[in-house]
Amino acid sequence: MNYIILDLEWNQSPNGQNHPRIPFEIIEIGAVKVNEELKLVDTFSELIRPRIYRQLHYKVKEICNITMNDLKKCREFPEVIRDFLDWCGEDMMFCTWGSMDLTELQRNMHFHKIKRRLAFPLFYEDVQNLFSLAYFEGTNKVSLSDAVEHLDLKEGEKFHRAVNDAKYTLAVMQKMNFDLYKQYFSIDCYYVPNNRDQEIYVSFDNCHKYVSRKFRTKEEAAEDSRVRELTCQKCGKKLKPILPWFSDNSKTYYSVANCPKHGLHSGVIRMKKCENGMFYATKVTKPISIISALQIKKKQDAIREKRREKRARIDHADA
Ligand SMILES: [Zn+2]
Repeated sequence: MNYIILDLEWNQSPNGQNHPRIPFEIIEIGAVKVNEELKLVDTFSELIRPRIYRQLHYKVKEICNITMNDLKKCREFPEVIRDFLDWCGEDMMFCTWGSMDLTELQRNMHFHKIKRRLAFPLFYEDVQNLFSLAYFEGTNKVSLSDAVEHLDLKEGEKFHRAVNDAKYTLAVMQKMNFDLYKQYFSIDCYYVPNNRDQEIYVSFDNCHKYVSRKFRTKEEAAEDSRVRELTCQKCGKKLKPILPWFSDNSKTYYSVANCPKHGLHSGVIRMKKCENGMFYATKVTKPISIISALQIKKKQDAIREKRREKRARIDHADA
């Protein structure tokens, strides 16, 4: 298997009027292909002539150091993406800095009516996330240039040109303990499961992740038995909540359950919107300490208190 370390540069409307189906138009694809030992196999780098935004947003001009004249000589997205995906090969896994590139790549492919070719579910290594786990216990996400500086890596090439950023991402992977952290891969959700059979369950050594099918409304998703069910991360047994699901803003839901053998678990559901306006839920279940469980209970108390105050204010205004 190879890793394809991918970086994209994209443009957006210079006057803020983004096309709803393609807010970010890809103007450069850069990638490095490496084997499982992270040894370089090949590189890919190509600029792309835009179809939608014929002027560069000032930030793109400034940051990427690309001009529209450079782009006018280039091939368009459909040609470049076909060559790029052929170059990637079948037995590969993408690595990106952050979670946006694969989503925008697929959005651009969808817009240009390119046939779906990427795996489903699409697992990938978010190196920004792995770096954060390795150096900041997962609490802090930093820019690629800050990571390069943090690791004291040699800076030669300019940042924000796609292939250079892909090379820097590789340098970070080579310097950090990638073999240890690669088990914490991510799931791209540009395409969401269409039905029960496609729903995604992944077990990590520290948590379970789940991605639901699509629902018409958030409420329907929140009522669904599979979305709500909690299982022990260790033995897989269905757990009874000791703190039933509650929500602060109808986007995030929290719950605490207990496995008699393996102790307390938290569940966190996040409601997300699909491309077509429907909704899906992601859920993370993991073992937690009693202190974390009490913090979740505190959160619930604070939400209740806020609601009580709000009601009191309304009653007061009515009176
Ligand atoms: Zn258990």
